[in-house]
Amino acid sequence: MLLNLHTHLEGRVRPETALELGARLGLPEPAGGWARAMELNGPSDLTCYLAKVSSTYPFFADRDSLTRIAREAVEDAAADGEDYLELRFGPMSHTGHGMDLDEVIAAVCEGVAQGSRATGMAAGAIVCALRLHSPEVNEAVARAAARFAGRGIVGFDLAGDEILYPDLDIVTPAFGIARAAGLGLTCHAAEAGPASAAIDAVDLLGVTRIGHGTHIAEDAAVLQEIAARGIVVEVCPTSNWYTGGIASLKAHPARHFHACGVPLVLGDDNPRQTRSLLSSERRSLRDTLGFDADALLALDRTSVAAGFMEPGVRDELSRRLAEEARTASGSAH
Ligand SMILES: [Zn+2]
Repeated sequence: MLLNLHTHLEGRVRPETALELGARLGLPEPAGGWARAMELNGPSDLTCYLAKVSSTYPFFADRDSLTRIAREAVEDAAADGEDYLELRFGPMSHTGHGMDLDEVIAAVCEGVAQGSRATGMAAGAIVCALRLHSPEVNEAVARAAARFAGRGIVGFDLAGDEILYPDLDIVTPAFGIARAAGLGLTCHAAEAGPASAAIDAVDLLGVTRIGHGTHIAEDAAVLQEIAARGIVVEVCPTSNWYTGGIASLKAHPARHFHACGVPLVLGDDNPRQTRSLLSSERRSLRDTLGFDADALLALDRTSVAAGFMEPGVRDELSRRLAEEARTASGSAH
């Protein structure tokens, strides 16, 4: 199965949509076209990677554009063969232009709902606080996310540059607001920062999932603690290679995490920048990182259990996974 539990709206803008919206906004098409402008040529560093992602911000200039980009993101995931999508975005970056936080979130939720209805693929949205914003701004983002709990928003996250803004203490109140609203909690941590940042995110913010967590592999004690506490790590192999978090795709610690008992789920993070959708990330797990059928089944089971979906969606995915596992074991005999 393909459950996409870590992907960003800002990393899924179609080049043809960028061309159309850019023409309307008076943004000249860059030399070589929008696709090349949004993509990374290959491995880089987190700051360059995030600069490429944030170069898409001007396209989120009004409600219709937000709804359209969100709808197309869901359609593209469904076309990739995905069974479920959690689409995250930083609403504060798209305010202004006469839109407040609630209007931005409502427009994205509308696009996700439209895409889900059109494709039949279940999807939910996660609101990201951003590390570069002040605690007050991130608390306002959390309050807005809380108002949409049960109306399209299923989770809350912290994203952004972990090297420039490592402090987690200052976002504790924002996560408290999101937790009180019943939202699922995750945090980008130990992506560029040290392994201990993952434990800090769990202890300070109460998250049940860690985005990336690549550097957890470098500290045996942290790795053991993450496994023992059942903290889920959202792995995004190509993204980690492109941000310079790992030296090569083959060097990704996903196999080691699995062997140590860390529950894993998969995401494609910013597929426009890496040119790698979730189906390709899953192939990397299988072909490059040595995940066998049992390891992939464990990942699927964790994804169904740890997703922030509504109970009805979880039940349906669980039923489909059991059916798929039965068929696979039947064909193995
Ligand atoms: Zn991410």
